[in-house]
Amino acid sequence: MTDCLFCRIVAGEIPATVVTETDTTLAFRDIDPKAPTHVLVIPKEHHQAIGDVDPLLAGQILATAHQVAKQEGIDESGYRLVFNTGKDGGQTVFHVHCHVLGGRGLTWPPG
Ligand code: 5GP
Repeated sequence: MTDCLFCRIVAGEIPATVVTETDTTLAFRDIDPKAPTHVLVIPKEHHQAIGDVDPLLAGQILATAHQVAKQEGIDESGYRLVFNTGKDGGQTVFHVHCHVLGGRGLTWPPG
């Protein structure tokens, strides 16, 4: 989708700091990090929200997220995966993405 911010990042039209990628997923640093590690993992194919993603692709997103945690050195200390979904879920970019957050003690519950 040409009007989708994250599709434009996949296409290389908007710069991003890429952490890792696979055939189907891309991981890049959030522009406004909420923790020392804050990486977004997206499918390269456009889907609006996690409910629109087939289970195989959902698993690939999660596998990439875990790979990011290992690369960032936070897999042992712990990290959080978040899919903000829809308006009440706080989603602001409507191309599904998994937030990988870590590098500090995270509080619960979120706001
Ligand atoms: P959401 O609020 O939809 O769960 O998360 C969207 C995330 O995308 C936010 O954390 C926001 O900081 C990040 N973001 C918005 N625009 C850009 C951008 O142009 N580049 C990058 N790398 N991240 C962005």
